[in-house]
Amino acid sequence: MNERAFQTAAADAAGRLAEHWRALASCELPVVPPGPPGTTLKALPETAPEQGEDLADILEDTWHTIVPQLVHWQHPNFLGYYPTNNSPASTLAELVTAGLGVQGMMWSTSPAATELEMRVCDWLARALDLPPRFTHASGQGGGVIQDSASSAALVAVVAALHRASRGRWREHGTEGRLRVYCTDQANSCVPKAVRIAGAGEPVLVPTVPGTHTMDPAALADRVDADRAAGLVPAAVVATVGTTVTCATDPVPRIGAVCRERGIWLHVDAAYAGSAALCPELREDDAGPEFADSYAVNAHKWLRTGTPCDILWVADRGDLADALGATPSYLRNDATDSGKVVDFKDWQVPLGRPMRALKLWYVLRAHGLEELREVIRHDIRLAALLASLVEREPGFHLVAHRLGLVVLRAETDDRTRELTQRLAGEPDVLCTPAIVDGRPVLRAALGSPYADETTVRRAWDTVRACAAPAS
Ligand SMILES: *Cc1c(COP(=O)(O)O)cnc(C)c1O
Repeated sequence: MNERAFQTAAADAAGRLAEHWRALASCELPVVPPGPPGTTLKALPETAPEQGEDLADILEDTWHTIVPQLVHWQHPNFLGYYPTNNSPASTLAELVTAGLGVQGMMWSTSPAATELEMRVCDWLARALDLPPRFTHASGQGGGVIQDSASSAALVAVVAALHRASRGRWREHGTEGRLRVYCTDQANSCVPKAVRIAGAGEPVLVPTVPGTHTMDPAALADRVDADRAAGLVPAAVVATVGTTVTCATDPVPRIGAVCRERGIWLHVDAAYAGSAALCPELREDDAGPEFADSYAVNAHKWLRTGTPCDILWVADRGDLADALGATPSYLRNDATDSGKVVDFKDWQVPLGRPMRALKLWYVLRAHGLEELREVIRHDIRLAALLASLVEREPGFHLVAHRLGLVVLRAETDDRTRELTQRLAGEPDVLCTPAIVDGRPVLRAALGSPYADETTVRRAWDTVRACAAPAS
């Protein structure tokens, strides 16, 4: 590897990225790529080169072949799913992280990586007003960076099954009897985690009609009935900010049900959890003080590149009991001393990249005050879009919370037609979904480059697609 070539290429890459961000900000690129399936495959040779090529050529091909066929998630008119944000600070940190190339599976394999992660998870816990027991400083719990809310849910479910069965969750005696509860509004990663963990399908607790949120009384009834039938209720997964409508389960009341019965409560706050940075947006229903574990995706709304989810647990022993594994080749004095945190025992994989660096860069480069403004800005833009939807004849506002606006047309057929036409529209991306059995379109604000003008323009595009073809 030629270090000088790296310096030149890295400077070139930085320049190209800065120009790319500028082009996104001024809407010079489409949101959605033009090519049919196979476009990129066709442009790439079928075999790897035998001889090395210049980084400059590879970079050039990146912009020539790859970038035009990407969906631009940072584009102001990207309104799909939930945002997956980024920032120059996060990008720079990823470059530095990659260059340092450390692997922080245990404290001893990279002490600073582990201690930095402990510190930034504590910073964020305090900034989100999470209970002190979720901090490393408390000596009880702490935060750990996972790749995704999906992994956080899996880790939490496994720890809960382990606790509920006193470590015997894989044995015959418990097989098929452990139960995990959520609603049909939980993200698909929740039933997936329950399946992977070997606990079958989750029990779907009814929602309170018209709210899309868990009915705590129905949860209590179901748990008690299951217990009477010889089953073992192990965990409840509640959601703060559901994926379809951004609804929030009543966590304090769910937490009371769990606490009385010794059931683990995991709170999936992947998107909406970040809003708690702003004191005026903290909701009583979010109730992190009732949770055994709580997860927020920094890569959704905190300008930190994906992947970066933080999972906080109230009792770190639960995780290490369920996931710990220390074969002879990982033994070391620091671990034996019991004085260090080995994050390998807080996650599924053994190895781990130093993801804390990007969170550190982002929190320092922006500061909490600026990150709060980012969230408030996106919420203002969503309110603008919601007001445009409400004012438009032939449209209905189905839900509007934080940065999310959910809408439908007058009839289901019209919504389906609109969805079809929008799917062929390169300049805006919304996500279709189903609410109460009816088709809807979701629009989530979160691009760093969105403003009032881009929101009005995106809405004009949607309206144009809704107009009957002439
Ligand atoms: C986005 C989202 C997820 C999935 O997040 P990943 O990090 O992609 O696994 C889970 N739950 C909720 C509520 C979400 O909004």
